[in-house]
Amino acid sequence: MMNVREYGNWINGAWLKASAMVERTSPANGVLLARFADSGEEEVDLAVKAARRAFDDRSIWSALPGGERAKAIGRWIELLVRDIDKLAKMEAEEVGKPIRFGKGETEWSIELARYAAALAWQIPSDLVNNAGDANLGMVVREPRGVIGMITPWNFPLVTLFQKLPFALAAGCTVVIKPSELTSSTTLEIAALAKEAGIPDGVINVVTGSGKAVGEALTGHHGVDMISFTGSTAVGKHIAARAAEQMKRVGLELGGKAANVVFADADIDAALDGVLLGYILNQGEECVQGTRLLIEESIANEFVAKLVERSKKIRIGLPEDPEADLGALIHEQHMEKVLSYIQSGLKEGAKLEIGGKRLTDSEFGKGFYVGPTIFSNVTPNMTIFREEIFGPVLAVTTFRTVAEAIELANDTNYGLGNGLWTKDIDKAIQVSRELKSGTVSVNTFLETVVQMPFGGYKESGIGRENGMDGLLEFTEVKSIFIKLGKRPHTLPHTVN
Ligand code: NAP
Ligand code: MG
Repeated sequence: MMNVREYGNWINGAWLKASAMVERTSPANGVLLARFADSGEEEVDLAVKAARRAFDDRSIWSALPGGERAKAIGRWIELLVRDIDKLAKMEAEEVGKPIRFGKGETEWSIELARYAAALAWQIPSDLVNNAGDANLGMVVREPRGVIGMITPWNFPLVTLFQKLPFALAAGCTVVIKPSELTSSTTLEIAALAKEAGIPDGVINVVTGSGKAVGEALTGHHGVDMISFTGSTAVGKHIAARAAEQMKRVGLELGGKAANVVFADADIDAALDGVLLGYILNQGEECVQGTRLLIEESIANEFVAKLVERSKKIRIGLPEDPEADLGALIHEQHMEKVLSYIQSGLKEGAKLEIGGKRLTDSEFGKGFYVGPTIFSNVTPNMTIFREEIFGPVLAVTTFRTVAEAIELANDTNYGLGNGLWTKDIDKAIQVSRELKSGTVSVNTFLETVVQMPFGGYKESGIGRENGMDGLLEFTEVKSIFIKLGKRPHTLPHTVN
């Protein structure tokens, strides 16, 4: 018998019991995992007030020396490291992903926090010192205020850690609304922040639905910015609502990345990258390499090898240490993925492997879809255009570099793309012409915390990670000072 986790909301450094709860059952086998507070406007208001107080009283957090905030975040990181296995397990269970990816995700989140903490020591500012002796300009960055963070279920910790430590480093305070399907780790890390000595009210978590909690947070006048990660549809809605109050927004939205493989690529490496790119996190991944654009001369051979590798993918329960692929997040989502597969068949794509729900033995209790590859995909097909968010790859061929670029850019999204070639000139030319916030060359889904992440086009607004990510959580203020100095004039020596 498993222990069922039960949580209230985390507000002003304490648990607040809720009257109504929502249940989360395992997407892999239906077992009850956790109960979360099913909150609404009232809880959001309490949390925003706590965050507001912790921000507006400058002695608590927002105006501390950056180094003090860095040290507090550093103590928090030590506790995250201490509890890494517990967090990884919760993450794997609630998302349905294999444990080693839960672990990898938690490690990456800690890496982001380490980097962000260091930035708190040196938030950039500028001095305008050449405007004459009587003038001095200071361009300073101030923390933006209370940030409402709304996160999705696919990478609950990573999507949060692309925001939270950066906002904290900048001096902001936050109210987080995690996905109601995967709230445990967000609640746990908030409680750990208290243990680390991060002051009460700096981090608050209110759980519940997007309709109730998300809407209340977006509409609250005490919130200065909404930092959202999720679907493009909800992102557009949030941006429109935020505009009513001219709230700042950061939006990390959907994607439809292409992996472009040229005939002169290291084929073995490209096979690995394309495979990982479409199955990682069951394809529930915003930068998933969901389209393979392959040079026609090598297409048949490449796809045949990819199918062989896809057959060897190990599907498993979250606790299976060897598993590569887990369960989809919930039944409705699985049905949506399956209906995209049907549309591929109907619109004339060729199914190379997969295409079905797995119902044999233990998998029948969960929401499993095996690795699925379609070839002969054309740009007019739904599976080329829409975000499927499952382990489904659409393969399209090209003949020239120009055609490859045109196909890759033939989408409303612009989050990431990958390309594979040994020709450095081609790599740089194509990288420059791809319209996406990230371009991966001879690798996929690999990055470093120093590099910004975000979308062109309908994939979002703003950037996370890197110094750019921190600056999103600041406002710029110009302070112009008149000094008591006589201005210099030109020497009157000539008359
Ligand atoms: P979603 O449906 O857009 O939900 C994201 C979050 O928004 C959830 O917490 C959700 O609450 C909440 N929400 C829903 N409606 C809302 C509303 N009206 N007002 C305020 N908040 C609301 O996305 P998802 O299904 O969880 O996640 C998958 C999507 O996220 C994909 O499109 C994926 O590409 C995108 N994503 C993007 C990135 C990136 O960095 N660009 C990273 C990961 C995922 P509920 O709990 O009630 O649903
Ligand atoms: Mg949703």
